[in-house]
Amino acid sequence: MDNLDLIIDLHKGGHRQGPGGDDETRLAIALSGLKEKANLSIADIGCGTGASTLVLANELNARITAVDFLPDFLEPLSAMAREKGLADRITIQTASMDALTFQPALLDAIWSEGAIYNMGFENGIRAWREFLKPGGILAVSELSWLTGERPADLEAHWMAQYPEVATASSKMGQLEAAGYALLGYFPLPEHCWLDNYYDPMQARFDDFLARHDHSEDAKSIVAAEEKEIALYKRWSAYFGYGYYIARRIAD
Ligand code: SAH
Repeated sequence: MDNLDLIIDLHKGGHRQGPGGDDETRLAIALSGLKEKANLSIADIGCGTGASTLVLANELNARITAVDFLPDFLEPLSAMAREKGLADRITIQTASMDALTFQPALLDAIWSEGAIYNMGFENGIRAWREFLKPGGILAVSELSWLTGERPADLEAHWMAQYPEVATASSKMGQLEAAGYALLGYFPLPEHCWLDNYYDPMQARFDDFLARHDHSEDAKSIVAAEEKEIALYKRWSAYFGYGYYIARRIAD
C-alpha cells in the first residue's frame, strides 16, 4: 500500500475528513437564505464521506451532487444515503474539483467544506462561479488567520504548507473581486476541530496501526497527524477555518 492509500484508509473510517460540524453547516444554510426555496440543485465539492451532504439533504428541498475524486470516500456516503432514505436526493460523482462538468449557470448553490484548498481558494472561487446561477450561493470553509498578527513560527509553518492562508477580511476581498457579494462569515468553533475531527481520528490510530502491522509508513502518517493536532491545540487562537457564504452577483 502506498502512502496515499494509507492516508485514505485512515480517513475513510471517519464521519468527516476535516474540521466541521452539523450545526455549523446548518448555520451556513441559515445565512444562505436557501431554506425558503424549493427544487434546488446543489453540488457539494470535495464532499469526502459526506457529512455536509447529509445535512444539506436533510435541511433543504434539493437534489445534491456529491463530488469527490476518491471513490473510497464516496462509497460510505452512498451506503449512508441509502440507510437514511436520502439516496433519491443525493447523486454521487467521482470527479476532480478542477475539472467539473456541470452546465454553466445550472446550480443554485455550491458547497465545499475543508476542500477548496486543494485547488487554492482564489482559483476555486473563480473557476466554480460559472456553474452558479446569478444569485446562486457559494458556501466554503477555508483555512484562515483569525487575528491581524500571529507568532512568526506559526506564520512560517502555514506559509510553507498553504501560502494562501490569509485573514478573513482578505478572503472576503477576494470573493468581492471575483464577483460575489458576501452574505456571512463565521469561524468554526474549536469543537469542530477537536471533538468532531481530531478526537475521532485519534481513536482510530490503534486499529489503523494494527491493520498495517505497525509499518514505518503507517507510523509516520500517525506521527504527522499528531503533529498537526499539537499545532492546532497550541495555536488555535490564531488560525482556524472560516466559513464564507456568498452570493454570485449578476454579470
Ligand atoms: N468535505 C469533507 C471532506 C474534507 S477533506 C468534510 O468536511 O469532511 C478534503 C476532501 O477533498 C477529501 O475528501 C478529498 O478526497 C477531496 N479532494 C482533494 N482533492 C480533490 C480534487 N482535486 N478533486 C475532488 N476532490 C478532492
